[in-house]
Order: sequence, then structure tokens, then C-alpha cells
Amino acid sequence: MKRFITGCFLFFLILLPGVVSAQVKMTMTKIADGVYFMQNSAGSSNSTFVVTDDGVLVFDIDIRTADQTLAAIRKLTDKKVKYLISSHAAGDHATGAWHFREDKPVYIATKNVVQDLFMQEAKEFEERANDPKVVGYKGRELVRPDLGFEGNMTLHFGGLTFQITAEGRGHSTGDLTVFMPQKRLMFMGDPLDTEIHPGQGESAGVWFSNVKGWIQILDNVMARNLPVETYVPGHGPVHLGRGVKDLEEQKRYFVVMRDEVAKMVAAGKTLEQVEKEFKIPQEFAHYTRPERLKAFYKLFYNQLIERGY
Ligand SMILES: [Zn+2]
Repeated sequence: MKRFITGCFLFFLILLPGVVSAQVKMTMTKIADGVYFMQNSAGSSNSTFVVTDDGVLVFDIDIRTADQTLAAIRKLTDKKVKYLISSHAAGDHATGAWHFREDKPVYIATKNVVQDLFMQEAKEFEERANDPKVVGYKGRELVRPDLGFEGNMTLHFGGLTFQITAEGRGHSTGDLTVFMPQKRLMFMGDPLDTEIHPGQGESAGVWFSNVKGWIQILDNVMARNLPVETYVPGHGPVHLGRGVKDLEEQKRYFVVMRDEVAKMVAAGKTLEQVEKEFKIPQEFAHYTRPERLKAFYKLFYNQLIERGY
């Protein structure tokens, strides 16, 4: 019974994105020498940081949790945070630069992230900062990237190479990845989520996830055949050493789920019927956050028949 009540309480919290942030804990795992993964306990965005002799680089920063990332860094090193990188513009990945202001890091993102942070993401930040129910925004500022790029770039920092690639539209209007050859790691951002139904991408009423693009990004990364032992997910737990199997599973998720919706479209079902009757295939039945699927049915459905979205 106690477990049931706890479960209901957690479920209730998960339904309220602002409230849940107050409860969120970022749990640190060392994933390579000097590289630390911070997993979000509520299934929201993860963050990763790299400690070098020349300072620290942080990948993905949420205004609601980046203070926990900074605290973890301060415990491990007295080096300053020199670089921030956001995988994409969504609030849970690109709003947290404010927490690092004392160290004056250079904040890197793609040009479309810079743009989005002036557009719908700025609007969402303002809405949340003015909503008394939302925790983690009030009294804080949206700090935008210093450097916006297109294509790809290489950063040599602290004896390491960071190969930063703009992967194009998939989960968001533009997702980037970071390959670290010396660590056999790749930071995937949201094109890879593990053991969780992916987020559908929406800010201030603008919907941006594109299933076709998402599959394409995964295909593009896999086609590089990179020497990567661990692909670090944007949401969900990191699977050390699972390598490309994580990407294959994520791709299969979209292919299989879209196909299930497509069969229902072919059978003449309406979106309302799809939402009501869809059965999650067995291989993804253990994924958490099933409440996220409702918006995804709409994406699969409308993107299949090319009606908006
Ligand atoms: Zn995310």
C-alpha cells in the first residue's frame, strides 16, 4: 500500500513539470577518467561534465538543476568552468548558464539554438519565471550562448579533442553531438534517450520534434562507425560499454512505433482512436514516462500524413 501511495505521488509529481523540479536529484556517475554523468532522477535532462587540467567543460545545463552540477564540480576541483555546450535549445538543456556566471565560461551552441533562445524558448523562460507554480526560474536570468555555429567544429581543450557536430533537425530544431575520441565517448543529447519514452519537443506552443529527422540523425551517427564505447543519453540512465546497441534500439523505437501508428492510419483510424487504442509494443513496455506518448501519437500521426507538425 505504501508503495502504491508513493507511486501515485511520484506519478502526480511527474505530471507537474514545475513542481517536479523541486524534488529532482542529479545523481553523479563517473563514466571515464575525468568525465562525470549527472542523471536526472525524474527522467528530465541529464548533464555531463569533463574535468581537465585547464578547467571544466559542461554539456547541457538546465536552470532547475545546473546548480547541482556546479556543486558537484566544486567538490571535485578548484578549476574554473571554461566551456558550456548545449545539445539543443529546449529549456531543460540550454537555460542553466546563469549558474556558472562567476567563472565566465564560453557558451557554445548551434546558430539555431541562439535563435530559439531569442524566440519561443525566451517566451517559455519568461512564462515560467512569472508562474508561481514553477520552481527554479524565478529571479534567474536566461543567459544565451556566446558562440553560435553551423556544420561542425573542433575544440581542443585540456589535452582533449571535442568534435562538435550540428546534426540537424530531429528531437529539436537542431541537435548537436560531441564526440571525445580520447575517452571513447559521445554525448548524444536528446537524439538518444534510454529506457524512457522520449520527449516530443514543445516550447511556448511551438512543436519541433521530427520523427523522420530523428531517425536520420541516428542513422548518420551510426554510419560514422566511430570508436565509441558509450553513447551518453539526454534522458535516462547511461549504459556503460553498450555502444551502438543503444542507438540501434532508439532507432528501432521510432521505426516500430511509427509503423504501429501507420497501420492504424491505414485502417482508417482517427487520431482520437489512435490515442485511445494504441498498444505499446512489448519491447518498449518497460520504458518510463508513458504519459509522454500522447503528444507523440499526434506527431507520428500528423507527420505521416504531413499535416503540420
Ligand atoms: Zn530533453
